[in-house]
Amino acid sequence: MFESLKENMYGAIHTLKGYGKITDANVALTVKEIQRTLMHSDVNYKIVKNFTLRVKDEAMGQKVSSSLKPGELFTKIVYDNLVKLMSCGDNKLNFISPTTLMMVVGLQGAGKTTFAVKLAKRIANRDKKKPLLVACDIYRPAAIEQLRVLCQQAQVDMFYIENEKNVNKIIEGALLKSEKDGNNVVIVDTAGRQSVDDEMMYEIKSIRERFRITESLLVLDSMIGQKSVDIAKKFNDTVELTGVILTKLDGDSKGGVALSVTATIGKPIKFIGTGEKLDDIDVFHPDRIANRILGKGDIISLVEQVQKTQEMDKEGFFNEKRLINGVTYADFMKLSKIISNTGLRKIFEMLPGVDKMNEKMSEDNEKNIKMFTTIINSMTHKERVNKCRLDLSRKIRIAKGSGRTVDDVNRLIKSIENMNRYLKSVKGKSAKEAFKLSPFLKKFDSSDIF
Ligand code: GDP
Ligand code: MG
Repeated sequence: MFESLKENMYGAIHTLKGYGKITDANVALTVKEIQRTLMHSDVNYKIVKNFTLRVKDEAMGQKVSSSLKPGELFTKIVYDNLVKLMSCGDNKLNFISPTTLMMVVGLQGAGKTTFAVKLAKRIANRDKKKPLLVACDIYRPAAIEQLRVLCQQAQVDMFYIENEKNVNKIIEGALLKSEKDGNNVVIVDTAGRQSVDDEMMYEIKSIRERFRITESLLVLDSMIGQKSVDIAKKFNDTVELTGVILTKLDGDSKGGVALSVTATIGKPIKFIGTGEKLDDIDVFHPDRIANRILGKGDIISLVEQVQKTQEMDKEGFFNEKRLINGVTYADFMKLSKIISNTGLRKIFEMLPGVDKMNEKMSEDNEKNIKMFTTIINSMTHKERVNKCRLDLSRKIRIAKGSGRTVDDVNRLIKSIENMNRYLKSVKGKSAKEAFKLSPFLKKFDSSDIF
């Protein structure tokens, strides 16, 4: 996420490295580099122009008084302005009583249906709401089925009327059902088109006028670059959006939309989609994104991401008891489940000062985790939950049972020992400190922890 922007921004600001102080000449040079970087990342031209003008003014204004080094000063100025650019009031969802009606709009393939279900799952689990998803994509034959499958996965309610072509009737039906069944959030998944067309706009406008809608959320595919700004404008003019969702930020998106859309339509980005799985949704935090673009990493997101995993919530994985007693093989199984849900690469991407994990490394390690899981599956219950030592005959048995070698079993044992050593060392430290000390942050070696 934002990788090329991050790299180029680093390069731009580091042109100042080695300069003792800020001068007209080096400011001009750096600002030009920043301008090029932002343009290259598909940030809207006008926005780039305003942004760099502001950065330049602020840098020149502070060049005499500041005791910071030019690089530090610039980083701070760029950071503040990036945050400003992406911020727009409160980006929390609004709920009203008794029923909140939300509408999800956007072009076809932007990720509306996926987002609608991610959102429903999130508010059901986090906010203890009872959402109902409404299938209003009446044009694509497979759309209802897609929504049904996703709702089943997320275990949230769904409403549709077979062969009904009037979306307002479908929504009326959904509202009646929500009243009957106690659903307090109704999320309407609308149809999209390949491009903005009158018919689609007319349909969502009629929904907007007919019902009291608390949230009109535009889903934008962050991969489509510059075009997204015009799309956002058109949707905002038609249905007055309350927020934007950027999807596919896990892909090769240059990230420019994140920096352009709020400044263009004056509406906040509320969530980002970071993958196809139903848990791949995050609140959009301008300060964290700015940190990430400037290469400071994103510890808090990481901690949240990990905590988000249900197992973690239920079990309180890093609880005091585990820190004191150490993890067992059974714990290791739980942790590997969390890792396979989140993905090692994603975890790595968020850690500051760590080189990106390449695909091969991540695959190798995920393979290791799978192998360890198979080995643990061949242990007896007692072996899994107690930290009893395994003698050679048990090791041979377990290796045989899991189709692995005794060496593999020994590697698993070593990994657990390393993990316990780490847990002991972070006792009493904050999550942030703990992650700093994590074996992940050392030169990564798969035998370090897995
Ligand atoms: P809709 O036509 O707007 O309803 O779009 P869908 O929800 O059907 O999504 C279109 C495709 O994009 C599907 O294959 C989704 O799995 C995928 N998708 C949606 N959101 C994301 C995301 O955040 N990241 C990635 N990688 N894929 C996504
Ligand atoms: Mg859809």
